Amino acid sequence: MAFDPASALQVIKARDAYRRRCIVESPQDVRVVIDGRPRVNFCSNDYLGLASHPAVREAFRRGVDRWGVGSGASHLVCGHTAAHHALEEELAEFTGRPRALLFSTGYMANLGVVSALVGRGDTVFEDRLNHASLLDGGLLSGARFQRYRHADARALEAALVESRAETRLVVTDGVFSMDGDLAPLPELARVARDGGAWLMVDDAHGLAVLGAEGRGTPEHFGLDATEVPVLVGTLGKALGTFGAFVAGSEALIDYLIQRARTYVYTTALPPAVAEATRVSLRVVREEPERRARLHCNVRRFRAGAASLGFELGDLPGPIQPLVIGANADALEASRRLGERGFLVSAIRPPTVPAGTARLRITLSAAHSDEQIDGLLEALAEAAPQEA
Ligand code: PMP
Repeated sequence: MAFDPASALQVIKARDAYRRRCIVESPQDVRVVIDGRPRVNFCSNDYLGLASHPAVREAFRRGVDRWGVGSGASHLVCGHTAAHHALEEELAEFTGRPRALLFSTGYMANLGVVSALVGRGDTVFEDRLNHASLLDGGLLSGARFQRYRHADARALEAALVESRAETRLVVTDGVFSMDGDLAPLPELARVARDGGAWLMVDDAHGLAVLGAEGRGTPEHFGLDATEVPVLVGTLGKALGTFGAFVAGSEALIDYLIQRARTYVYTTALPPAVAEATRVSLRVVREEPERRARLHCNVRRFRAGAASLGFELGDLPGPIQPLVIGANADALEASRRLGERGFLVSAIRPPTVPAGTARLRITLSAAHSDEQIDGLLEALAEAAPQEA
């Protein structure tokens, strides 16, 4: 029998799990226009407000003038421009690693890196709540795939003790994308080292946000490059552009250039994106007040949400999810917030575990106090908590 997408869709709809795209009619910013209506955006990953920063836009335009639009080929053929190369050097320096390697997206970086580092006969250990791209990379690799309890270094330790695989790779998000909590990196680094494993951290949501200088979750915890030998960062979130990179030792990067299939077999990013990212990295270094403002906004939101009765865990970053439970309730809360002028998306299974549908609220340095207070007021009406 042939696959029947219409009946598969019926099943998705019956579970209130059908996802719709809204059509955004304005540049990415704190204020967006959707269906002709202005909304205050509380679900973007543009944490520092750099996607529309004038200097970043200007660098992109200048990049197009200098390099054209497409890169024309993969990095190993003739797509690797001086702009890509300079950005790689600057990302290596920023993250405190000998080298960095650009990938077209974070999804591709994670698929390519995990599947290049482990294969048949090896074991990859992953946090249960890792981003889909890390989980998919583990599955694609052909290695034995072992998931450990969320953020639980002792569970990882037990799994490592039992493992007989020669090559072991531990993989975790730095900041969990749908929960906002941090991986216990110091403990994971110790357990990985004692268990003879390498540690890979995907810091998509920590980069440019956490740590005194914005170097991410490892900096937040005071960990160096030997403790986190494989570090992935994405460019489409706090850096406001597009793409991703992995940073690590000379040998690691050289090996990935040879073997990461999602690096070798794909067209390089447009060079203008690299030029824009170089400028946004400069803004991250030169304007620490953006990061300070973001954390101030996070604190304001958390204090307000707590006083409304929402239970928020220890979440130091910009992702502040409010778990609602049933899919239909989360959708309804999101719809009501929309009516009040706020864009907050309802995240449902399979992105999050069943019964934990949530409003994934993200804060930005570009939000004003009034916008945050307005959201809190709207939340009190749209998703009232029991006293
Ligand atoms: N890792 C994490 C933790 C993410 O949240 C995301 C994006 N949502 C990615 C990787 C993928 O990055 P990209 O959007 O660049 O593919």
